[in-house]
Amino acid sequence: MDPAGNLHTCLVATAKPTLTVALRETLPPDVDTIQVPDLDGLHRVLERPRCEVTVVLDLQWLGQFTDDQRRLLATEIATRQDFCWIIGHSSNAKILSSEWTGITFFFSLPLDRFAVHAQLATQRALQQRLALSETMVPSSKEDKGVTNRQARILVLDDYAPNLKALEFVLEPHYEVVCFNSPVAAWEWLENREVDLILLDILMPDISGYEFKSRLHRSERLRDVPVIFMSALDEASDESKGLSLGAVDYITKPFSFDVVLARVARQLSHFGLKRQLERLSLTDDLTGLPNRRYFDSFAQTALRAAQRAGLPLTVAMLDIDLFKTFNDTYGHVAGDECLANVAGALRDVIHRETDCVARYGGEEFACLLYDTDAEGAKSLATRLLQAVRNLCIPHIGANADRVTVSVGLHVTEQWQDLTDLKQLLDQADRCLYRAKGKGRNSFEITLQGEGAGRAIGVTDAPSELPQPQGKALRNRVR
Ligand code: GH3
Ligand code: MG
Ligand code: MG
Repeated sequence: MDPAGNLHTCLVATAKPTLTVALRETLPPDVDTIQVPDLDGLHRVLERPRCEVTVVLDLQWLGQFTDDQRRLLATEIATRQDFCWIIGHSSNAKILSSEWTGITFFFSLPLDRFAVHAQLATQRALQQRLALSETMVPSSKEDKGVTNRQARILVLDDYAPNLKALEFVLEPHYEVVCFNSPVAAWEWLENREVDLILLDILMPDISGYEFKSRLHRSERLRDVPVIFMSALDEASDESKGLSLGAVDYITKPFSFDVVLARVARQLSHFGLKRQLERLSLTDDLTGLPNRRYFDSFAQTALRAAQRAGLPLTVAMLDIDLFKTFNDTYGHVAGDECLANVAGALRDVIHRETDCVARYGGEEFACLLYDTDAEGAKSLATRLLQAVRNLCIPHIGANADRVTVSVGLHVTEQWQDLTDLKQLLDQADRCLYRAKGKGRNSFEITLQGEGAGRAIGVTDAPSELPQPQGKALRNRVR
């Protein structure tokens, strides 16, 4: 079922009932499989009100249409943003022109149950996350995936005519960077991003296999999809390439259509994967990074600050008396309040090297890079003020409005054994001291002997603007 409770439908365009039966047997039982024998039938079903659809096209069936008809169909499916699978023998894939950028997956016959289930699970997870986040977080520029901007492809082949041919065929659709030397390609990759690599296997100096292994050893480049190209067409070469983590394998001499179809397929798949990864690091309710993202970001920042000898502050924030808020105003208002508080925190913490995340329930964590005790105090004051300024009424709170308490721990001098957990624990202790002292305030310690040295606390200012009944405004971006 999709998030709205609709049945997931696989719309199979084929003249062969046997293919539909094979697919029905391969798919999980809750997937509805409808076969349409012709283009008219396909259009009629596509025109129905939306439900979650995967359009499955039989490659042989597609063979009966002209290039123009196929192009039109591809555009229509891509516009509806349905998932599109092509099923058939890969040797026939050359009928797919470069227009087929909307393909989500290509399944070779006979169907592999595991591959089909895995693909379906990925799509469902993605759709569910998108459906949830669509209402909360308007998509940002990066959300659009690789397919909506011009993807960048690196081609590495020591044979110049091959490079020229591939550049000729790929350039109208993608940004193409060509290299005939692995060393030059590696240097270029050191500080550049790339969406796909087409990699020759037999090259002097460094083989394609070795190049792929190097990519794998690099944390940043490990996940870039690689398609091997080689005149070696023995099954063992292909399996060696795939066992090294290549996503596909093209044999030379290659058909341009096959190259284009396979490149398009990998880019669309990679785009979905990246989108899914990004969503898995975001909190749906507030649009802030989640705890998983924070922990990884903070680890990196901590190592960097330690290496550079720069100060670093970790802060924990918690909404005051939020249980009472939920009890008084209800959980929906509670959720809205959380989203508004998140927006206020994000307005204050906007440096690229800082991070504010939803750490759990009504708790937020901040990492402030290159921030000493003075900077931390000033930021804490601004955070408290930003939440107060939201003027969200809270009759159970001391200040008549929603407030937060903040615990901060500053490290200005690094010891060898400092780890993230220690810093978070210290910030947490400060937070609970701030709670104990009346809330709506911050407590701060500086890294020192024992549990850290307390260096300051602020209380709420006595003069506050009056909360207004209608002040709840969704600030989620
Ligand atoms: P304190 O000032 O000591 O932090 O008191 P508190 O009431 O905020 O703390 P407590 O830990 O007792 O309660 C936290 C409340 O936060 C209870 C829980 O229902 C609520 N909460 C946690 N996550 C969510 C959420 O996603 N939405 C809503 N509406 N409430 C949440
Ligand atoms: Mg609380
Ligand atoms: Mg709490």
